[in-house]
Amino acid sequence: MSDSKYCPRQAQRTRRSIVKMGAIAAPVVLANLGGTRHAAAYDAESGSEQRYDVIVIGAGVSGLAAAKALHAAGYLTLTLEARDRIGGRIFTDRNSGATLDMGASWIHGPRGNPITRLLQDAGASLYKTNFDSLTLYSGGRKVADSRGTTDFYRYIERRKDDMKTDESLATAFESYIREREISGDREAIVRHIVYTDIETEFGTNMYNLSLKCFNEDKEYKGGDVFVASGYDALVNELSRNLDIRLHSPVDTIRDTRTGVIVSVGGNDYRARYVVVTIPLGVLQKSAISFSPPLSEMKTRALEGLGMGNLHKTYLEFAHDFWDGSQTIDIVRGDTKWREFINLTVETGKPILLALHAGEAASNMRQMSNDQIANEAFSVLRTAYSDAMKPLRATTTAWEDDPYAYGSYSFVKVGGSLEMYDDLSSPQGRVYFAGEHTNSNYPATVHGAYLSGVRAARMLQGEAQ
Ligand SMILES: Cc1cc2nc3c(=O)[nH]c(=O)nc-3n(C[C@H](O)[C@H](O)[C@H](O)COP(=O)(O)OP(=O)(O)OC[C@H]3O[C@@H](n4cnc5c(N)ncnc54)[C@H](O)[C@@H]3O)c2cc1C
Repeated sequence: MSDSKYCPRQAQRTRRSIVKMGAIAAPVVLANLGGTRHAAAYDAESGSEQRYDVIVIGAGVSGLAAAKALHAAGYLTLTLEARDRIGGRIFTDRNSGATLDMGASWIHGPRGNPITRLLQDAGASLYKTNFDSLTLYSGGRKVADSRGTTDFYRYIERRKDDMKTDESLATAFESYIREREISGDREAIVRHIVYTDIETEFGTNMYNLSLKCFNEDKEYKGGDVFVASGYDALVNELSRNLDIRLHSPVDTIRDTRTGVIVSVGGNDYRARYVVVTIPLGVLQKSAISFSPPLSEMKTRALEGLGMGNLHKTYLEFAHDFWDGSQTIDIVRGDTKWREFINLTVETGKPILLALHAGEAASNMRQMSNDQIANEAFSVLRTAYSDAMKPLRATTTAWEDDPYAYGSYSFVKVGGSLEMYDDLSSPQGRVYFAGEHTNSNYPATVHGAYLSGVRAARMLQGEAQ
């Protein structure tokens, strides 16, 4: 991973700069709270009872991590969650009898990753996924396995070093195809593999993605590990002993300078501090009104980052008819149904998972599950003459979800990783967490978790 001069980040990641940007007063926080309970303290300005030390908004991984850390340190916390469940973008559906994660499924980089330990402690069953195990079909025939992305990734690293202004990954890819004179069947396969790899990873189309910030974030090593027994084990574990109020969509946060007032449809909750973990997409829609308003720096960051849209389709069959490889790729001149992930071993059932991103995902919004199952069947039939119609298709709708408005964040063309830091910095008594506030590990469960731990530490004045 190179550190592009156009996506500068090392300088922004120090605690000092975060303090400077957010103008927080960590020592005061330490003195005020000091890890002891301050329930029912008196708010001189509003003249009302100040019930909680900290209100956490959102019971996703980041909110639960923050609330757990603060609760463990002796703070009286309340977590307000809009949905009728905890977990946010971790949601395990067991309605069909199979364990299907509609949000996160994998630990990306299990080595040294805090999520691995937490899931192991919770007794989760984990399977290594080998995305290099691939069967590729083109024109109804099996073709030689060729991931073919290494050369492109090398090409773009060099291109980044030479670039003056940011451009999209799609622009870089078209130049690559031209310069390398890739054409015919080879071009179709390279296009298929690069687009499938990148668009499903980022949840958006290549023309939206910043080249200068591509692959500039950090990663844990060890590949990808599938959480077969359900990712909800993580949030169940984190939520233990916490005071969580469901069905509580927060609409207003007022920082009175001596405390905060958090409103849910006219009901006011008071605290000394608040940790806001609502997703980037929800912040972008201004679903919560902040007083004072979010700073210009944060507003710019909300514009420079994008909310991706990854759509999952689990296809359950009567029995399997596909190759034993981890993924089955079908090269076709369409952005839909390009790849099927074989989860037969992991789930113990004949299940394929298809991923769609960006426009392809949006195009599926109007389709019924039956139409989706039929479409998948017609594509699978081009590779497997004995393919059958799925018994069931289970799909997601993150783009239209008013408490997510998408799957996870990405850096738009012209944006920067520094914008994640801008979103993380506290504003008065308002602290922020969530995957979109972690410039090291954005768009991941571990990024969200670590952001919650960080917000809790900052609030306690313990961060360095
Ligand atoms: C389809 C999909 C696949 C993914 N796959 C992976 C993967 O395999 N591996 C991985 O590491 N990551 C993956 N991710 C990303 C990962 O799930 C997220 O980064 C992470 O769960 C985000 O946690 P969070 O706490 O930041 O946000 P969330 O989990 O979204 O939590 C925010 C909470 O705030 C609540 N909320 C919103 N508005 C309000 C309001 N007004 N008042 C009160 N509460 C509110 C929401 O309901 C939610 O519970 C995936 C995400 C999706 C959608």
